[in-house]
Amino acid sequence: MELYDQPTFRMACQQFDVVADYLQIPLAERDRIKYPKRSMAVALPIHLDDGSTRVFAGYRVQHHLTLGPTKGGLRYHPDVTLGEVAALAMWMSWKCALTGLPYGGAKGGVACEPGKMTRKELERLTRRYTQEMIPFIGPQVDVMAPDLGTNEQVMAWIMDTYSVHAGYTVPSIVTGKPVGLGGSLGRREATGRGVGYLVNRASDNTSLVMGNATAVVQGYGNVGSIAALSLARYGVKVIGVSDVQGGLYNPKGLDIWAIEKYQAENKTLQGFPEAEPISNEELLLLPCDILVPAALERQITAANAGKIQCRILAEAANGPTTPEADEILNQREEIFIIPDVLCNAGGVIVSYFEWVQDLQSFFWGETEVTDKLFRILEAAFMQTVNMAKKQKIPMRMAALSLGIKRVQEAKKMRGLFP
Ligand code: NAD
Repeated sequence: MELYDQPTFRMACQQFDVVADYLQIPLAERDRIKYPKRSMAVALPIHLDDGSTRVFAGYRVQHHLTLGPTKGGLRYHPDVTLGEVAALAMWMSWKCALTGLPYGGAKGGVACEPGKMTRKELERLTRRYTQEMIPFIGPQVDVMAPDLGTNEQVMAWIMDTYSVHAGYTVPSIVTGKPVGLGGSLGRREATGRGVGYLVNRASDNTSLVMGNATAVVQGYGNVGSIAALSLARYGVKVIGVSDVQGGLYNPKGLDIWAIEKYQAENKTLQGFPEAEPISNEELLLLPCDILVPAALERQITAANAGKIQCRILAEAANGPTTPEADEILNQREEIFIIPDVLCNAGGVIVSYFEWVQDLQSFFWGETEVTDKLFRILEAAFMQTVNMAKKQKIPMRMAALSLGIKRVQEAKKMRGLFP
């Protein structure tokens, strides 16, 4: 599948191959489980506000359709490629299977810089992307959600474009939309809140006391900011945070609520008083108890894996750790890893709740959403920890094995048509 060849896709395949060997999946079945079912690449011409026209590249990859519709985020970032989107779709499949959701994985992306585009340009781009995707998406086919660079507003435009095409309102076409349009209470907070919950559970396994612990969070967007707030609520002292422009460090602890306010007003972390500036590279190496990468893939590599100084590595981002770094971390038994497919699963779990609520036009309170979220995370966490302990394998291997095995079994039960 040369069409996907790219570092993040190679990384996802490498992880799959190791697990397939461990599970002794017959060679004849492997490609069928590993490679994406469908991929779309589209050219998106739009008018810019200066009157010129520009064409953007957009992608959507649906990894497997065995267990239900596909589900996954839409990313706006300049480095988006078909291969990266395919890797992210693959991880979504294992994540949904690990948490028992009736979905296959999907992911979409547009290569653009949302921070440098106007609201009108982003709206035109989103609507054009949705228009191009209409033959391939639907509430029972493929359901999008926010990811890096997209948000509730982007989901609202997708829902509106799709609904205008259908001739009636279709809230279940996307999740992570505003609550006023059929979004779920607790969806925006779900991923970061799930990270906090799982770190707290992991602390029991590491005899770390949350009230005495320190944390560093890379990436202060939807996931990173809520993860930091959630950890602070558990009594953790957050000493470092960052965004794409750089980080903030205060060994005495950052006032997360003040940072929240500062960022909302200034759209950046830079210049926040009561903290020293620090680079993203230095931030990852700060001594802390809990390290939360919540930005991009491939941040923890062979170059820095031996130098990170944490007790719990909570992978809020997708694919933040390369397989080479994993080999180094697996030798460092003092570090407890909550692998990405488990750690950030809160987002898709509450997306599932949102989809169910939209299909039934019957909405739940936030306590009910959060309670159900924690129950599913708890079950997935315990299954992963128990398997890792029983089989003496790393947490990532356990989580991926549980997910991949479920997809393998479902494919076996359904058989191969014709
Ligand atoms: P976001 O766009 O809201 O925030 C991203 C943050 O990362 C921003 O603060 C940005 O400035 C920062 N960033 C970007 N490039 C960076 C770099 N090179 N170094 C440091 N910081 C950088 O995105 P998000 O929705 O919070 O997603 C973050 C990660 O979490 C992604 O890996 C995404 O796939 C994953 N994720 C998101 C969700 C969700 O519900 N949004 C669910 C599961 C996983």
